[in-house]
Amino acid sequence: MDLSRFARRRYTEGPTPLEPMPRFSAALAASCPGGRGPDVWIKRDDLLGLSPGGNKTRKLEFLVADALAQGADTLITCGAPQSNHCRITLAAAVKEGLKCRFVIEERVPGSYRDDASGNHFLFRLYGVEDLTVVPAGTDMAAAMRAVAGELARAGRKGYVIPGGGSNAVGGLGYVACAQELQQQMFEQGVGFHRVVVGSGSSGTHGGLLAGFLGNRIGVPITGVGVSRDPAQQAPLVLAETEAVCELLGLDLRVRESDVHCVGGYWQPKYSVPNARMVEAVQVLARTEAILLDPVYTGKVMAGLIGLAREGIIRPGEQVLFLHTGGMPSLFAYESELLGRSNVAA
Ligand SMILES: *Cc1c(COP(=O)(O)O)cnc(C)c1O
Repeated sequence: MDLSRFARRRYTEGPTPLEPMPRFSAALAASCPGGRGPDVWIKRDDLLGLSPGGNKTRKLEFLVADALAQGADTLITCGAPQSNHCRITLAAAVKEGLKCRFVIEERVPGSYRDDASGNHFLFRLYGVEDLTVVPAGTDMAAAMRAVAGELARAGRKGYVIPGGGSNAVGGLGYVACAQELQQQMFEQGVGFHRVVVGSGSSGTHGGLLAGFLGNRIGVPITGVGVSRDPAQQAPLVLAETEAVCELLGLDLRVRESDVHCVGGYWQPKYSVPNARMVEAVQVLARTEAILLDPVYTGKVMAGLIGLAREGIIRPGEQVLFLHTGGMPSLFAYESELLGRSNVAA
């Protein structure tokens, strides 16, 4: 598919690495029934630009290009107190000479702290112009429109980016990723039985699925929920995939069976640690020197590990784990990750 008709800014030089993880695969196999497990590879989207980069970098290449085309001077977006998406949007704004404002949703009551570390520290260091903290359940779209209205009254022009950058335009970033991956599989002579990816606001899962369908990449995608179980998550992913396919002008019907979601690994709550996440973060750090994060990729990798131990991911399967970034929030969860404070089972 030709994506060149869509305006795009570039924030990363070249493709992100596609690498095997032999030490992790061996450690995982040792914990699987019969001592056999899958062969796990990783695509390093934690090495994307807008340092430290992550999946939002890809979405923002298309979203910011659209903002610039519309003559915006300020990016407005929303997220949780440790939002990677907010931090990377701010970094893109800095790079483009734009201002940036956030609406922060305190999804876990009492979790917002003005002196927090991790991404919150980077909000300050990158120089966010303003942020508003609102309680859980607030209409975030309306709150962002209010910020845009305030800017308009001051003669400025805001561009509103939805949570996670997950609309049709943002999803194009993962269509581009699908094409990049297809080329790498060809060049490196590797094929996969399955891709495992985090599924939150769904732009990554849905965009990648649209890219796989549009490019006829016949590899199933398993989305591990970071905030919802499949009954709630799958419809979001389906809608995102359809929106991206429509923007691409693809003449295809997305089937419900194309959307595969897994639940049970994000509990007790979005962003709240659990023991399987801690295990996953520790194992990746200690076998491959790769840093996962506590809110997203740690729980997604816990899902991959769990599915392998259950035999749903079969021994000998070639599995690709898509690393979506998130490293700074490690520093907001140090005591949980080192076992110094209790976490949920
Ligand atoms: C936002 C985010 C996700 C989830 O991606 P969505 O496109 O929102 O589903 C996964 N991992 C990390 C590190 C993220 O920041």
